[in-house]
Amino acid sequence: MIKINENYLKLQASYLFSDIAKRVAGFQEANPEKEVIKLGIGDVTRSLPDACIEAFHKAADEMADESTFRGYGPEQGYPFLKEAIAENDFQARGADISPDEIFVSDGAKCDSGNIQEIFAIDSKIAIPDPVYPVYLDTNVMAGRAGDFDNNRYQNIAYLESTKQNGFIPDLPSEPVDLIYLCFPNNPTGATISKTQLKTWVDYAKTNKALILFDAAYESFIRDDSLPHSIYEIEGAKEVAIEIRSFSKTAGFTGVRCGYTVIPKECMAYDVNGNPHPLHPLWNRRHTTKFNGASYPVQRAAAAVYSEAGKAQCKERIDFYLRNAKLVREEMTALGYDCVGGDNSPYIWIDGQRDSWEFFDLLLKKAGVVCTPGAGFGKCGEGFIRISAFNSFENVEKAMARIKSALA
Ligand code: PLP
Repeated sequence: MIKINENYLKLQASYLFSDIAKRVAGFQEANPEKEVIKLGIGDVTRSLPDACIEAFHKAADEMADESTFRGYGPEQGYPFLKEAIAENDFQARGADISPDEIFVSDGAKCDSGNIQEIFAIDSKIAIPDPVYPVYLDTNVMAGRAGDFDNNRYQNIAYLESTKQNGFIPDLPSEPVDLIYLCFPNNPTGATISKTQLKTWVDYAKTNKALILFDAAYESFIRDDSLPHSIYEIEGAKEVAIEIRSFSKTAGFTGVRCGYTVIPKECMAYDVNGNPHPLHPLWNRRHTTKFNGASYPVQRAAAAVYSEAGKAQCKERIDFYLRNAKLVREEMTALGYDCVGGDNSPYIWIDGQRDSWEFFDLLLKKAGVVCTPGAGFGKCGEGFIRISAFNSFENVEKAMARIKSALA
């Protein structure tokens, strides 16, 4: 008899985006004349940069000619892309990462979900609340989370991000093995300073723990004092894996490309306490289960690092940040406490009431769709997330409507 993985039965149904879609559809049916502005989901709206499109086309043409055609490539990614990543994303910031420490993939979601496979099943996991749900659900699937009771999985150490701690969680009060951190954060938009990040690196070193640092929104950082990579922190190479994505940096949400960095000196331990480098483990996992990101996609990603590509990506991020600034300023002027929106596309707003109630209010009175914070975890209750991914005109219109609805 084939049996199921019963851990899947422990997953909490995620009704967040389907609930939002249902409420929006109901509103539109009742008010067909009203235009709804969506500032809910975290998907980009601008097209791919020209530099990426040109490289994409050129690579597709190469595939049409036998002399330049490429079949299977290296599972870890082509050297032309890994070299560009190492040089621009790390070495240029003083982080000593080499191309062979980089594993190119089809996105940060897969990597952040798959990475837990190389750790022991009884590892104690620390997960932020509120959180990008992939970290939690993949550990539930693996059987590390325990039973769900009173809104929490019993074996997870929750790292609460609240107004009181400035949305930077305190160090765990119990010993943990694997720590998920994401900065700039989804959903809160909060950022972490080098000093704050250093306390996590030091904790990991002292406790032989590992940090999984998700830097998917790093390109939104405009404050020069903030770290773009955890490897800007001394000692991080021994205790941290970093995950990056081209999705928000270059509009690749539909193209699919990201990467994971595992430094050669990054270690985890066997049952006898002997250290083992994680690089060969992940290399084995990656080469066994993944056959490489497509060649044209990797050429398009490499074009992000050309002079033209850098300028075009920056222009797009600046565009979203202009939207974010407007949202933050207007909501603050209306008397709502906000975080994010300055080095992040997300603005996390204290709605001063139940987050679904605030969602309904904005939908019904302003025709604006946001995301209720409660959908990201217990600590998200009372908050909403507004995303800056839309046209400036729509964001202006949405804010004018919210202003008159809440006035
Ligand atoms: N990590 C975080 C924190 C995200 O918010 C997202 C997407 O929204 C991802 C990873 C997924 O990125 P990708 O499109 O590369 O899979």
